[in-house]
Amino acid sequence: MTRFETDAIHAGQEPDPVTGAVVPAIYQTSTYKQDGVGGLRGGYDYSRSGNPTRAALEVNLAALERGRFGFATSSGLSAEDLILRAVLKPGDHIIVPIDAYGGSYRLINRVYTPWGISHTAVDQNDVVAVEKSIQPGKTKAIWVETPTNPLLAITDIEAISALARAHDLTVIVDNTFASPYLQQPLNLGADIVIHSTTKYLGGHSDVIGGAVITSNPALAEKIGFLHNAMGPVAGPMDAWLVLRGIRTLGVRMDRHTFNAKAVVRYLQGNSQITEIFYPGLPGHKGHEIAKRQMRDFGGMVSFRVKGGAEKALRVCEKVQIFTLAESLGGVESLIEHPARMTHASVSGSPLEVPDDLIRLSVGIEHIDDLIEDLERAL
Ligand SMILES: *Cc1c(COP(=O)(O)O)cnc(C)c1O
Repeated sequence: MTRFETDAIHAGQEPDPVTGAVVPAIYQTSTYKQDGVGGLRGGYDYSRSGNPTRAALEVNLAALERGRFGFATSSGLSAEDLILRAVLKPGDHIIVPIDAYGGSYRLINRVYTPWGISHTAVDQNDVVAVEKSIQPGKTKAIWVETPTNPLLAITDIEAISALARAHDLTVIVDNTFASPYLQQPLNLGADIVIHSTTKYLGGHSDVIGGAVITSNPALAEKIGFLHNAMGPVAGPMDAWLVLRGIRTLGVRMDRHTFNAKAVVRYLQGNSQITEIFYPGLPGHKGHEIAKRQMRDFGGMVSFRVKGGAEKALRVCEKVQIFTLAESLGGVESLIEHPARMTHASVSGSPLEVPDDLIRLSVGIEHIDDLIEDLERAL
């Protein structure tokens, strides 16, 4: 088997057999001519059911996560919706983290609750607490996000997967923050991986997309059925943009991580900072687990500042190279205030975040420029 960086460039992307084009074509078509009724060329009949550009991405995604089946969706949240419907039905219960992407919690709390699916938010650092929250016969799945957004907490995927196997539960891991370059949850025992490809996989802040990967044929069949029956598919242009981003994923992640570590070192020496959240710090609660299950610690850094929400907002507005914006994982550095921006939807819930918190998506610009920018703003 070839290695990650090679698969990122070649899996699902053989040169076109007709023209020799090195890059997969964008098949911007809704339908396909049939050679007589049912005479399909390459199995394609309608682009919701299948499209060659999307198929190239799906083969690639499966290879990157060392899974067997990949599905490319219209967004990270539509990937989540697809999985939740494949795994849960009304009356079921799911365990979710106390710290997670706000939109994931909103989907479960505001969309699934009225449809009769209950949930418990648990600190997944505490495997005993997770076990205690299992409702026999009712709990069907554990939702894991690691590192978490925005507090960079780490969950032991192997430990949670072992617990889930003992109770016949499905483990779903949101691997958006790490990317498959830094962490491969299926290898650690998880059943399903999801991504917002909008973030590191796309990597250039120019596309919204999502992915689902599994090696379980029964789950893949359900997900595949729903993908077609519900229709949350990635369009050909979007699939092509994500594929283009993925080719450089490895080198980008190395630089994101290098720059993030330098930013953390700078923040450690700044007296305005009261707390830094980065799994690469030896004092971080999940450091040892992160070292075991991740290749490196990634490009996301959060920190709290002296002076409360007011100071945090001022820093977000004063930076010049960091862009004040939601989202993450692009080549450009972003800064945001989770309590007012990405996590406003979880205000008042168990997932609420401190209001003096700032989140950085450290980009791949020159590190000296990034540090000078933070220095000016702080
Ligand atoms: C952005 C994000 C999502 C949602 O993805 P969209 O592409 O915005 O729908 C899910 N999980 C995490 C961790 C994210 O950062």
